[in-house]
Amino acid sequence: MPETSISPHELAAGSSDIYDIAIMGGGPAGLVATRYCLHAHLSTALVTPELGGKVGYPFVIRGMEPVDSVWGAQFVHECETAVAVSPELKHIREQASHLAHLPDGHFQVRLAGGSSIQARAVIVATGAAAQRLYVAGEKEYWGRGVSFSAVSHAHFFKDRSVAVVGGSQRTLVAALELADIARHVYLILARPQAMQELPAAPLLRRQRNVTPFVSWEVQQIYGDDFVSGISLVGSNGETRQLPVDGVFIQFGLLPNNELVRDLIDLDEGGHIPIDHRCQTSIPGLFAAGDVTNIQSEQVLVAVGEGAKAALSAWQYLVTQH
Ligand SMILES: Cc1cc2nc3c(=O)[nH]c(=O)nc-3n(C[C@H](O)[C@H](O)[C@H](O)COP(=O)(O)OP(=O)(O)OC[C@H]3O[C@@H](n4cnc5c(N)ncnc54)[C@H](O)[C@@H]3O)c2cc1C
Repeated sequence: MPETSISPHELAAGSSDIYDIAIMGGGPAGLVATRYCLHAHLSTALVTPELGGKVGYPFVIRGMEPVDSVWGAQFVHECETAVAVSPELKHIREQASHLAHLPDGHFQVRLAGGSSIQARAVIVATGAAAQRLYVAGEKEYWGRGVSFSAVSHAHFFKDRSVAVVGGSQRTLVAALELADIARHVYLILARPQAMQELPAAPLLRRQRNVTPFVSWEVQQIYGDDFVSGISLVGSNGETRQLPVDGVFIQFGLLPNNELVRDLIDLDEGGHIPIDHRCQTSIPGLFAAGDVTNIQSEQVLVAVGEGAKAALSAWQYLVTQH
């Protein structure tokens, strides 16, 4: 960020009610974007009910020493502290409920409590939520063998047995990744077409340590302190128990896209399409992190995308005045 940044007063053009920028979401992407905007002396509103987002998920399995499994988590916690004590920041501890693009090019953000703010530019960094399986044991063993993120946790399962559950290309890719690391992979697919239609299916069929359970569903995840197995039921009513150390629930993430659904065309997974500068199809509207189509789902990626969105927004703002 250049040192000769434009002051908020210059950018606000005399209006104290309108922020230069409003950032939705206080996860890694939103926090880093906020810090960059504050460095640029933009008048900044951060709208988020909490700080930190999905960064705080611990993960352990049987026999593993608890480790700092999330790269970048410490940096994100530093950002939380910096943002929490910043006197220049307007932190609105609420959900944003609606975003409108006004005829004058500004944005109006309606807040869950009923009030609203305006801003010249907006960064949407509202993240995404893991799609759950909703079976007994899923919540209990979340972070103690149950994972929603193969890219984050597959490497812990060297020479162990795991189950991968889902029905999409994402599920099959996770099973392929794990097949290279784990001793054995049980692939539980409720949808029989998955093993015929999806591009990763032929590769998976060649893996000798992958056992597909097609048209089977998970009934329960069980264990003691950690996951030790899952029980399945087949479409013919047959039941099975499989001993596993981990269960990867790989349905995917649901982007928190409610704010922009009426404003822009989303991709088929509901993500906000952005270009290489985090710009959406609407000038002044930027997005970063898991809510976008970058699809990397890592804290360090979200951090970088948040920085990029802020730099792009800053450039947009300076060239508007
Ligand atoms: C189970 C799980 C484990 C993971 N493990 C790892 C790991 O080990 N390592 C790793 O690098 N990555 C991991 N990830 C991925 C990582 O957590 C995400 O990629 C990262 O947190 C994305 O950051 P984000 O800022 O885009 O979104 P999030 O972290 O999801 O933050 C979104 C923020 O937006 C806020 N928000 C949502 N809706 C609104 C609204 N309407 N108005 C205002 N605020 C709103 C939320 O409260 C939150 O503050 C994991 C993800 C999951 C689900």
